[in-house]
Amino acid sequence: MASAKIQEQIDHGAVPNHVSNVCPKGTKMHLLEVGWLEADEGFVLRGGNTSLNSTKDKAFVNKRRQLPMYCVLIDHPIEGVILWETGCGKDYPEVWGPQVADVFSRVRYEPQHELDAAIEATGHKIEDVKKIIIGHLHLDHAGGLDMFLDRKDVEIWVHDLELRSAFWSVATGADVGVYLKHYLKLDLNWKTFDERTMDFCQGITLHHLPGHTDGLIGMQINLAETGTYLFISDHCHVIENVSRKSCRNEKPFANLDSGGTVFRRVGLLATTRRGSDRRRD
Ligand SMILES: [Zn+2]
Repeated sequence: MASAKIQEQIDHGAVPNHVSNVCPKGTKMHLLEVGWLEADEGFVLRGGNTSLNSTKDKAFVNKRRQLPMYCVLIDHPIEGVILWETGCGKDYPEVWGPQVADVFSRVRYEPQHELDAAIEATGHKIEDVKKIIIGHLHLDHAGGLDMFLDRKDVEIWVHDLELRSAFWSVATGADVGVYLKHYLKLDLNWKTFDERTMDFCQGITLHHLPGHTDGLIGMQINLAETGTYLFISDHCHVIENVSRKSCRNEKPFANLDSGGTVFRRVGLLATTRRGSDRRRD
């Protein structure tokens, strides 16, 4: 949380660096729905579906959670069409294999959820995409890169640490199943940065948010009329990861050394905004 005094200054017109970078007039942002996964709650909420001593002899039905996969398309007057993440790719069950597809099942995938169809619904074509930013390279966020394998003209931006760990993972077989060589191809037009915060272009700032993976990034977009949006990939999976004060007890998969600190940074980003902007959760 921003201190009360800092927030008071912001309310009176002070503009911190991470909100002064505002998109040019005419920028449009579209959310794309690209399918739904379902998994046991224990994968997204720390302590989910676990027993207590008092309940150890009782039978219960495991809670399951449905998780939307989404991308963000930004129609930027200067940069052209930018895509935030790609979803899981069309042939998910075959590409991921039966074990992963059993753990994270794609329970809803209709023709309109295919990436090219979802982009077309915004009035653009997949050929219009000029740059892709990937929050992290797990297969449900980057699997759709398989639609760009012959597109040398498209820049694919990730954090330096994410590219290294994804390729290392595929090369050594570590973390097998979550990074796949199906879309991690050397001849894609990869671009990386290693700063903690980078102004990607006018109105879009990228933040390194390690925890779920070492190189995970979030994208902050400041729209001139509708305000600030922060997309944080798998930094949080479900609303409970956000709404309580710490992710330490709320989220499995996290590197806890950095998770708590980073979580507080996200909280700060979410609360220090221009005047009328407020967090939307
Ligand atoms: Zn992930």
